[in-house]
Amino acid sequence: MEELQGALQAGGLTVSNFPDKGRSLVTTRDFYPGEVIISQEPYVCVPNNSRCDGCFTDTNLKKCSACQVVCYCGSVCQKLDWKLHRLECQALSKLDKERRKSVTPTIRLMVKLYLRRKLQNEKVISVTATDNYNLVEALVSHMLDIDEKQLVLYAQMANLVNLILQLPEISIKEIAENFSKVFIILLS
Ligand SMILES: [Zn+2]
Ligand SMILES: [Zn+2]
Repeated sequence: MEELQGALQAGGLTVSNFPDKGRSLVTTRDFYPGEVIISQEPYVCVPNNSRCDGCFTDTNLKKCSACQVVCYCGSVCQKLDWKLHRLECQALSKLDKERRKSVTPTIRLMVKLYLRRKLQNEKVISVTATDNYNLVEALVSHMLDIDEKQLVLYAQMANLVNLILQLPEISIKEIAENFSKVFIILLS
């Protein structure tokens, strides 16, 4: 977090805690109208329907010939995504056809999140102050605020993610908590 504060301070921003709002990003200097305050690549992202996994265009799409799940508009996007998709592709290809159909964008998002963490741990993908799993870890899961029906849904989704990943170091509970983190952002 200290590294993050350093990176933010250079851009006139800081993370502060407020009793009524919780953790917040605040400015430490004035900004001009139209000035970009912050620009950040998502840790992971997945298009909602048939779009290129790299640039999100919906034209000229071709399915990855190995997994038949992920689409690309061409070899440029496919190559840029290959470090991560190589692992995802292997995992998806092991599933039988019926199971593969149940892999929704939300499931893929969680699978990619853990695969990206793995690649950053192994230094295959570089880690920076604003691009690391600790920032995902620091998000609040609000597990105590959600009802039982929602918890059951997260547990079911976490089960599928666990089955796809086959990584013994990750627990279903941890995956369910991450779903809760991600959905709180989507719904708030
Ligand atoms: Zn593309
Ligand atoms: Zn593939």
